[in-house]
Amino acid sequence: MAITTGIKGFNDILPNQVEKWQLIEATARRVFGIYGFSEIRVPIMEKTELFARSIGDATDIVEKEMYSFTDKGENLVTLRPEGTAGVMRAFIEHKLQVLDPVTKLYYLGPMFRYERPQKGRSRQFHQIGAEVVGVTNPRVDAQLLVMLCHFFTDLGLTEPTLQINSLGCPDCRPAYRASLKGFLLERLERLCDDCRRRMETNPLRALDCKVAGCGETTADAPSVLDHLCQGCDDHFVAVRRHLEATATPFTINSRMVRGLDYYTRTTFELVTGLLGAQSAVAAGGRYDGLIQELGGPALPGIGFAMGVERVALLLADRETGRSPDLFIAAHGEAAGDEAFRLMIQLQRQGFWVEIDYEGKSLKSQMRRADKLKARFTLIIGEEELLTASGMLKAMATGVQVASPLDPSLLAEALSCS
Ligand code: ATP
Ligand code: MG
Repeated sequence: MAITTGIKGFNDILPNQVEKWQLIEATARRVFGIYGFSEIRVPIMEKTELFARSIGDATDIVEKEMYSFTDKGENLVTLRPEGTAGVMRAFIEHKLQVLDPVTKLYYLGPMFRYERPQKGRSRQFHQIGAEVVGVTNPRVDAQLLVMLCHFFTDLGLTEPTLQINSLGCPDCRPAYRASLKGFLLERLERLCDDCRRRMETNPLRALDCKVAGCGETTADAPSVLDHLCQGCDDHFVAVRRHLEATATPFTINSRMVRGLDYYTRTTFELVTGLLGAQSAVAAGGRYDGLIQELGGPALPGIGFAMGVERVALLLADRETGRSPDLFIAAHGEAAGDEAFRLMIQLQRQGFWVEIDYEGKSLKSQMRRADKLKARFTLIIGEEELLTASGMLKAMATGVQVASPLDPSLLAEALSCS
């Protein structure tokens, strides 16, 4: 068995990609911080039961995508397929509502789903997510959506765009479900195998089935928005009003069905046309019954998760590379020692400095400085050593000046531009 390749669907994030990831993570931390969110770090493994109970037995994730196994102590455990379940488990376990009746949390890290790997879809993937627990007020729904859009605009992305829907609540959804099921049963022979199989457990999924025939068949299916109870309707109207009041562009997509059972009322996706079938970049919704369902207090919640791989793809051609402040090219053993000493002193002051370690010619050292896109180069030959002065060159302009081999003076020059 080859051990020189990783596991299918588990990707490396190489140094030339990682800066994009760091930018995404830093932007999330900064923007979410503005809105009062704190980070929470929970384990990547939980009891399997937690996911079955929260996400729902009849969902794709729980039915076929989870990495579940029995550990050496005979415990049934699962690598987390999403973040909300673990965060809510931690919320309940540590009674976080006692600290503040409004709890705003965010998390980032790897998730695991056994899916068919393709562009924007892997088996270990990464999410950044946020949750608000304790508030039913629709202003919180709108604020969370504004924050999510703020994150994307801060990254300079005009894609993706926001779509919203309401999935109703345990009071009004059963009637909608029954009405939709009746509609689908009359057209059963035109639906795909998956949709037929899900008819009893999860008929709503037919609305977002990717098979073209199912899309056509359900084109005039009853809309969930016509079946909302007064409370859910008022809530949805208010969310839209707050989004309009804050100039947050959105469209209503009444066919949006989320693949997790715990959603109630407001659901949303940020979608893009740039990533083929992997069109959802971020998604989420309200989960007002979840915490109680898991054995916690009766507190409402709302949250989202975005796929970092997909955000990184949207930033594809963004230049994020870093380059050294200075490359010191040295000729001869004594000059090499001086270059090394200067490098360390400048690094201690916070400058990124590179030298040659292989005794290469000056010419080849200069080629490396070019390749690394160093902002400045300093050339120290044997003569320069005698005068304790080297040639400092600003690479962008080509301007050269003689510079004393003095770390403070060099630091000043490097700070200038
Ligand atoms: P999709 O419809 O693409 O399968 P989903 O509805 O399963 O997405 P969620 O469970 O809502 O996705 O997860 C939120 C986000 O996480 C998605 O919008 C997507 O950006 C990302 N995501 C989900 N599954 C994967 C995966 N296997 N690989 C990469 N990113 C993923
Ligand atoms: Mg999925």
